[in-house]
Amino acid sequence: SIYGDYIKSVIRTVPDWPEQGVNFRDITPLLQNSAAFRKLIDSFVHRYQEMNLDAIAAIDARGFIIGAPLAYELGCSFVPVRKKGKLPFKTISETYTLEYGHSEVELHSDAFQEGDRILLMDDLIATGGTMLAAANLIQRCGGQVVETATIIDLPELGGSQKIRDAGYSVFAVCS
Ligand code: 5GP
Repeated sequence: SIYGDYIKSVIRTVPDWPEQGVNFRDITPLLQNSAAFRKLIDSFVHRYQEMNLDAIAAIDARGFIIGAPLAYELGCSFVPVRKKGKLPFKTISETYTLEYGHSEVELHSDAFQEGDRILLMDDLIATGGTMLAAANLIQRCGGQVVETATIIDLPELGGSQKIRDAGYSVFAVCS
């Protein structure tokens, strides 16, 4: 993408966090840098402004940071996809497998209208499990996942390929 190399340069890698052997990609330096944060949101605006989206769905919690300003700028609605037990109204949920155990994402059952054009966002794709579960959940709710978008893709983990193999489009600002 247009600002990919620049955005990558303001992401910090923290070795051995949250556990030994993991290189955590930390986006807080990017968020602290107002010019970089603006360029990040602008790169999503540039890609999605002509796509006639109805809603931005974003994944708890770092997805919210990018999803909300994009929804504001594009003039479409914002829908939170949350971890289990956080949404107060009637929910629909999707379980997915982690390296150890399971996790669950939830949506309010009235989040979309049938056929709504949805962009799904999160900050990072690793194994792709979170994004894929959320995309499947949106489709089950009647939404049409136009694309899944992220700041960072870790292609060596195969997650973005897994999401594409399931029939969804994937956009990453940097890899
Ligand atoms: P996946 O389900 O693709 O294996 O993991 C992606 C999810 O875990 C995303 O919701 C993302 O926020 C979080 N995540 C996993 N690893 C990292 C990382 O290194 N940096 C950041 N910022 N998030 C991560």
